[in-house]
Amino acid sequence: MTTNKIKAPRQTKKAPVVKNQELIGEVVDITFQGLGVIKVDNYPIFVADALPGEEIKIGVTRVLQNYAFGRTIERLKTSPDRVDVAHGQLITSGIAPLVNLKYDAQLELKRNQIVQLFKKVGLDVDVDPTIGMETPSKYRNKTVVPVKFQDGHLTTGFYRRGSHNLVPIDDYYLNDPKIDAAIGTVRDILDAHGTTVWDDATKKGEIRYIMVRRGYYSHEMMVGLITATRELHDEAAIVADIVAALPELKSLILNYNPRQTNVLLGSENRVLFGQSTIQDTILANKFNIGLNSFYQVNPQTTEVLYSLAAKKAGLKLTDTVIDAYSGIGTIGLTVANQVKKVIGVEVVEPAVADAKVNMALNNVKNAEFIANDAPAQMREWQAEGLKPEVVFVDPPRKGLTPELIEAVAGMAPETFVYISCNPATLARDAVQILEQGFEIDGAITPLDQFPQTTHVESVTVFKRKA
Ligand code: SAH
Repeated sequence: MTTNKIKAPRQTKKAPVVKNQELIGEVVDITFQGLGVIKVDNYPIFVADALPGEEIKIGVTRVLQNYAFGRTIERLKTSPDRVDVAHGQLITSGIAPLVNLKYDAQLELKRNQIVQLFKKVGLDVDVDPTIGMETPSKYRNKTVVPVKFQDGHLTTGFYRRGSHNLVPIDDYYLNDPKIDAAIGTVRDILDAHGTTVWDDATKKGEIRYIMVRRGYYSHEMMVGLITATRELHDEAAIVADIVAALPELKSLILNYNPRQTNVLLGSENRVLFGQSTIQDTILANKFNIGLNSFYQVNPQTTEVLYSLAAKKAGLKLTDTVIDAYSGIGTIGLTVANQVKKVIGVEVVEPAVADAKVNMALNNVKNAEFIANDAPAQMREWQAEGLKPEVVFVDPPRKGLTPELIEAVAGMAPETFVYISCNPATLARDAVQILEQGFEIDGAITPLDQFPQTTHVESVTVFKRKA
């Protein structure tokens, strides 16, 4: 796992193991990241691809003061929860870190994670069993993969942790197979035209990443070529070849991203073929989706998620509803016909533009979408005296801000529905929401939007105390 380039951390007397030591131990726990835990005198050693109940012989690879990492040399006893993995790269790549664990056990791991994180902040909560998928693979409707020039050809795959070498991979396991096939097709076309690959060291080259998004119902395909140059050489011929090879293609976009950061997409797009958006359907509503817009990656569970959130909210035809962190308007527009009015706020302007188009597409007249920072907009609404009955929030992993929670409390909705993709920030925010005069209504419901990965999605309903 470690390479020579990584400086070995200082070894202290406190650690009961040393680097390269071999030992046999029982795996007693599994971390939220899916690593097995072995303990030596209460000192934890983390091991990838090791499940609770297993007995393994390990080699210690890295030693720190309070914990160490190891790798399995031999498995002496196997967990009944273990499943054979299609290819070992799925775990080491980080693509599907839980793929070695039976699906039922994954669902329970996620449920228990919410229980434990709430306990840590002093809250005892009821958590439902995690709602899972029937077929928990090949669900992703979008992927962005890095491109490198290796062994004389353009290569797509993943970076092994701590390395700049790309490990080639064609079957990403979690993607819609048509997406994996399209990645290979586009890569090979670029290769045939001698497209150069961006090199971090020399700061030269054209292509950096390939993105593919495919509508689950519509089968419309978008391909994004993320490049460090505004144009590709041989561009017209490349476009013609891609168009000919991908019959589902509705949108081919060059996304210019010359920046030296790990933000994958730039903000400058040029349509090379077709339209700037593709369309798909959620709960019979049509959505136009632009290249830079957030769109839920698991279309099957998204419908379950939105239906569950709407049902838990107990919507009434007289309700004014806020949809905060609204993306392209999916939550607000799917509930618009159940309420009086929907108002959404989202910080990415092109996503708000998509939301406005989506309103018209679905003939929704009682919605409004505003491009702004959600906490700032909530403050404004509070100052204007807005009194919504229901507030939905669906923030990114960093969760809500104290300012936003105060503004919601100031508007005093009866119902505050928190859709979370990170139970650690959910638990943190829950403490403040409860302090602001709300209580948790019923149980928290986890829902598996990301099978085989460590991501945990859930819906929590807070009710204002009388
Ligand atoms: N509800 C939508 C989007 C959820 S993802 C859906 O289900 O598809 C979270 C969204 O929050 C993203 O669209 C992101 O652009 C947006 N976002 C991130 N930070 C924000 C902020 N400070 N204010 C408003 N929106 C923000």
